[in-house]
Amino acid sequence: MDALRFAPPPISAEAETLRQEVRAFLREELGTGPRPRDRSGTLGGFSPAFSRRLGARGWLGMTWPKRYGGHERSYLERYVVLEELLAAHAPINAHNVADRQSGPLLLRFGTEEQRQAVLPRIAAGECYFCIGMSEPDAGSDLAGVRTRAVPVPGGGWRVNGTKIWTSYAERCHYMILFCRTGERTEQDRHAGFTQFLVDMKTPGIRINPIRNIAGDRNFNEVVFEDVHLPDSAVIGTPGNAWRQLTSELALERSGPDRFLAAFKLFVTLARAVGRGEPSERAAMALGRHAANMVVLRRMSRSVAGMLQAGEDPVVQGAMVKDLGTTLEQGLPDVVRQLLAVEPDLDSDEEIASAIAEIILHAPSFSIRGGTREILRNGIARGLGLR
Ligand SMILES: Cc1cc2nc3c(=O)[nH]c(=O)nc-3n(C[C@H](O)[C@H](O)[C@H](O)COP(=O)(O)OP(=O)(O)OC[C@H]3O[C@@H](n4cnc5c(N)ncnc54)[C@H](O)[C@@H]3O)c2cc1C
Repeated sequence: MDALRFAPPPISAEAETLRQEVRAFLREELGTGPRPRDRSGTLGGFSPAFSRRLGARGWLGMTWPKRYGGHERSYLERYVVLEELLAAHAPINAHNVADRQSGPLLLRFGTEEQRQAVLPRIAAGECYFCIGMSEPDAGSDLAGVRTRAVPVPGGGWRVNGTKIWTSYAERCHYMILFCRTGERTEQDRHAGFTQFLVDMKTPGIRINPIRNIAGDRNFNEVVFEDVHLPDSAVIGTPGNAWRQLTSELALERSGPDRFLAAFKLFVTLARAVGRGEPSERAAMALGRHAANMVVLRRMSRSVAGMLQAGEDPVVQGAMVKDLGTTLEQGLPDVVRQLLAVEPDLDSDEEIASAIAEIILHAPSFSIRGGTREILRNGIARGLGLR
């Protein structure tokens, strides 16, 4: 039952001073009023210029060693910055994957050459990553991945296969590609996978956009046709990628982005019902949602403490994501119970466009980064129930 342990989150005066600095920066960068909808996803948009300014402030690669462009700050300080960015609906999609999981993966398993080539650029907000895990017939069950890299006589690897749902592939500099290089064994169906650092400009990579239900084109099919990768692109030990992937997923799932994706709608709702005196029903509904967010925040900050201590909080991360996405998916219903509002993406009325945006995106919250059923399978295993 150790997996149920959420130690009290660390408290730090530096982190709270930092919070005020980030708020001041965001007020200057984004203003305080409503902003036009950015059609590049629910996390506020994709802006290389904003990512570079964040990098210049020292707020990317925050926990990494200084020799790789990092700032050797605590996980809690990184958490505070991210929380403020999400609450302000800042455009973090350019750097988010690189800062959250690809950089840390390279720091832990990459070669010295890979770290030096990439980490300082991520920390400067100049280098963006996409995730090459899912395939047309392998999403939840990544052991079914069929993209294959074969060693080439004379050096390097030749890759063939298709990845799908790859967010921002068309705008990223690199992909962390998860693919098969060997065979599974009788004892281990997770054997035989390798991760590669792939420069997205490598010849043979074709990117086909996929339009989502909201009409946005921010994920893609990525086809590899006889793509040649050098030996220096291998991350970690060939055949060992499953273990590497597991620790990457803990980073992908545990952060505040898993329960602050719809925060903008919550704030808009609070403004809409809170003018004057909110009714008792409205106060109760908002209070219930806020109380749940406070608990999730505590759990997620606790995970930041575990990361700081060098632990791999995989089960705790899955719990944060599952509870967080369930809470956020229920928010449109809360709005409907309190307000007569017609969802309309193009409405000038903030609540109407915000609820339309969340209704269209919310189903994906419990799919991306691992589906609800898969997370619950993992949680049950972690608790010794399966
Ligand atoms: C907005 C968005 C962005 C994404 N971005 C990326 C990205 O950048 N890179 C990337 O690699 N992927 C990305 N994905 C893909 C995402 O990770 C997969 O869609 C997800 O893992 C599910 O895989 P699948 O679509 O193949 O569904 P399937 O695995 O086919 O699952 C279909 C249904 O069956 C259920 N199911 C499957 N297996 C089991 C089981 N063993 N027990 C119980 N139920 C089960 C699932 O829970 C689900 O409800 C993204 C997805 C979305 C929606």
